[in-house]
Amino acid sequence: MTPGSTPRMVHTRAPGKINVFLKVGSLQDDGYHDLATAFQSVSLYEDVRAYPADDFSVSVTGTVSLDRVPTDDSNIAIKAAKLLAATTGYTGGVRLEIDKHVPVAGGMGGGSADAAATLLACDTLWGTDLPREKLLELAAQLGADVPFALTGGTAIGTGRGDQLSPALARGQFQWVLVLADFGLSTPVVYHALDEHRERNGRDILPVSSAPNVDMSVLHALRAGDPQMLADTLHNDLQAPALQLEHGLTTVLELGEENGALAGIVSGSGPTVAFLAADLDSALELQIALSAAQLNVVRVTGPVHGARVIAE
Ligand code: ATP
Repeated sequence: MTPGSTPRMVHTRAPGKINVFLKVGSLQDDGYHDLATAFQSVSLYEDVRAYPADDFSVSVTGTVSLDRVPTDDSNIAIKAAKLLAATTGYTGGVRLEIDKHVPVAGGMGGGSADAAATLLACDTLWGTDLPREKLLELAAQLGADVPFALTGGTAIGTGRGDQLSPALARGQFQWVLVLADFGLSTPVVYHALDEHRERNGRDILPVSSAPNVDMSVLHALRAGDPQMLADTLHNDLQAPALQLEHGLTTVLELGEENGALAGIVSGSGPTVAFLAADLDSALELQIALSAAQLNVVRVTGPVHGARVIAE
């Protein structure tokens, strides 16, 4: 691109994520919870193409079911573009094309990846060139998982999950994902967790309002040791997700019977992520789960956050 010229199109790509560890704090007065989570971005991507336009529009294609993706102003990509325009004083619009591969309402932050990819695409297309910290600030306004989709890699998230600090992770972890053909609403899963805690308050350990990520998770990531990581995988939202969708228990059992080191529901589900010892076991697991008619994707992590793709 020559200086000062407007590109005809900007293509960006942002990854989905797995929460390898997720503790949910007690319900606060404002209805939210503080979290302690360890995110890992994985090689399942959302592609966004941004074209110059006078107003704002979005169209969506992809390899996952698109039924629940809005194409009006409630699409988080449109919200991201409008937020960037309002912040920078940009007066034009953008035509966005999203190519989705991350399952919708799957607990893998697909919408958040769209928002992160859109912020970067529009910032490049419009030449607004916001500093990284400012883009991260806008990302946090759009949703708790959006800053991580911008940064990628492996990170610890606290607060609402949006206060990020990078975590050292050595090597690549091999994951096998089972995608569901239905979604789970994040607020519904949190509500089921709160109800469970309220009903069983006397029988369960007191829940902290500000939880921490266990040191063992950080050690396992730093060591790049899949067995160590498998031993520390944890998700407070798994029990309510399984309670809402009993079939996920069978999926977890099937993966563990077929060589997975461990399986976990990702975020609020219903995607189930299995950690494999190495590439060979990941391939074997992929074959076994596919033979059981499940929708299976093999990915690795960590990968880069949102970036511009040269066409
Ligand atoms: P998280 O793991 O961050 O909680 P998720 O991966 O479970 O999120 P998403 O796919 O991000 O869920 O979307 C949740 C809901 O947001 C969808 O059901 C849909 O109605 C709405 N939505 C708005 N914009 C988008 C988008 N660009 N892609 C997908 N869903 C969107």
